[in-house]
Amino acid sequence: MHDFLNDIPIQPLPHFSLKGIPVSILRLDTIHPIVSGNKWFKLKYYLQDAIQKKKKPIATFGGPYSNHIVASAFAAKQAGLQSEGYINGKELLVLNETLAQAQSYGMKLQFIGRSESPAAIIEKYNNDKVYWILPGGYGNLGVKGASDIMKIESVARYTHIICATGTGTMMAGLILGAYPKQQVLGISVLKNHFSIESEVNSLLKGTSFSTQFHFIHGYHFGGYAKHPPELIQHMIHYWQQWLLPTDIVYTSKLVYAVGDLLQKEHFSLDSNILLIHSGGLQGNRSLPDGSLPF
Ligand SMILES: *Cc1c(COP(=O)(O)O)cnc(C)c1O
Repeated sequence: MHDFLNDIPIQPLPHFSLKGIPVSILRLDTIHPIVSGNKWFKLKYYLQDAIQKKKKPIATFGGPYSNHIVASAFAAKQAGLQSEGYINGKELLVLNETLAQAQSYGMKLQFIGRSESPAAIIEKYNNDKVYWILPGGYGNLGVKGASDIMKIESVARYTHIICATGTGTMMAGLILGAYPKQQVLGISVLKNHFSIESEVNSLLKGTSFSTQFHFIHGYHFGGYAKHPPELIQHMIHYWQQWLLPTDIVYTSKLVYAVGDLLQKEHFSLDSNILLIHSGGLQGNRSLPDGSLPF
């Protein structure tokens, strides 16, 4: 596992900042076409736990284009576990590519109302034999898995580790695994998600870490999964400039935020910045064909 980790590419992003502050990106999107990015790390220990507890199947939640759903379906199949996916949203008579793919890995899909909470669903379908995984893999085993990202040897040299945050599970893992002098920065992709700070703190409760971390709001481009034409233009530009593919929900907003912060001289000149490309490229399938050159 160690060698596999150290083979994950770190791509420099030259000329990102006028001041010459070096910026690179850890390409977790390259580890697997489907269970890509942070989902692979976050799911790993849940699946081990499910196997140990002899619980089959696993069940989890997500939207119709969820990276977590398709990753869970695939990872469960690989682990020899059955899976169930509870999908928020109107029932689709014809499944989109994401859900069709999840189904092709054997996931049983069930549509639930947009407002039905995971807690209500778990209660409703309460069944001892099912291993529930919260949306996005939120929870301690997800944090533990994400902290393995920081076992990659070359991440030690960076002063700042910056990631996009949804539930904050990955970020909590990065904080836990980071070196004391590093700072971890989270770019929230949800609008006004100010509770993220206490959510990450509660994920870290009972652990010891000495890394500073903070959150930056205001780079959500209108809200979760919102992707105005301006954002798509930035994504095309990142591809043309660096051959860097990004997704509309998380990583494009991360890269944009860091570019903007560099311009606003947010970082000291001796910074050495590492972005986490957390994957999620499959979510771009929600765009009309031909919207992106990659
Ligand atoms: C799920 C996801 C995230 C968010 O991770 P959290 O641990 O929920 O904060 C970030 N990036 C990508 C590409 C994702 O799929």
